[in-house]
Amino acid sequence: MATRRTILMYHRIAEDPFDPYSLCVSPARFEAQVRAILESADIVGLDRLRDRASRPQVVITLDDGYADNLSAALPIAETIGVPITIFVTSGLLDDKAGFWWDRLALLLHARDEIDLDLPVGEHGMRILLQGEGSAAKTLVALHSRLRGLPTSSIEACLVELAHQLGTPMPEPARARVMTSGELRAMASNPLVTIGAHTVSHEMLAGRPAIQQAEMIGGSKQALERLLGLPVEHFAYPFGDGDAFDTTSVDTARESGFRTACTTQKGRVSLLNDRLRMPRQMVLDWDEDQLRERLRAWRAS
Ligand SMILES: [Zn+2]
Repeated sequence: MATRRTILMYHRIAEDPFDPYSLCVSPARFEAQVRAILESADIVGLDRLRDRASRPQVVITLDDGYADNLSAALPIAETIGVPITIFVTSGLLDDKAGFWWDRLALLLHARDEIDLDLPVGEHGMRILLQGEGSAAKTLVALHSRLRGLPTSSIEACLVELAHQLGTPMPEPARARVMTSGELRAMASNPLVTIGAHTVSHEMLAGRPAIQQAEMIGGSKQALERLLGLPVEHFAYPFGDGDAFDTTSVDTARESGFRTACTTQKGRVSLLNDRLRMPRQMVLDWDEDQLRERLRAWRAS
């Protein structure tokens, strides 16, 4: 039987009661999940995923570069002795403002009366909602409209949003991004592989090749300069079929990446394009729920 190969995707390892995008897995659950994976599979790095193996092979990846990857994920990986790969957004290191989607969520949190007229798209975006769930609905609508825009447009929209809500721009302290020093500490651990995740986490699809080269190749160069190590693995921001295009795949190859991960679901086969590797997102599940998923994904 062919070896089963699966790449898992995490974002934050944190106990955060405010998690509107379901990006957090608690440290206790992460530890239980890692132990549950090891019952039926080996956890390997991306470099070894294609090796011949008698047991199922699982790779653990964490996207974006959140600080809790160092404070919470790494100690668990070290205790158990398993490799992890962190895909880092190079331009966000040391930036206390963090990711725009975390500020967006904080701005809208617990608001049940929404009356907004935002500079999104040609005709603007009017949102008028009342009652429970208004904030969550607004968050979903705005996130999907904003994610394809250039950073400057997203930032302009957030500034206007804060202004219309009459609140200062929040800082996502709990969802903060690693500093350069923290990333260097992380990268010096032999269990950790650092991969790139573009410079600014802007969506790649539809952008001219020269821009994509700056976004994709630029993050590789910045991380290699900072860490003094080759950065050979990449993950497409947002990662679904609408988020990147064939130019992105060609650019990842030409930039010198050996692999690139998507967020498209599936198992890795040896026939897979190494620059379009599917992943499975793991949520804050207990070990029984995870075992069930691993079986459903045919990963164990
Ligand atoms: Zn990401």
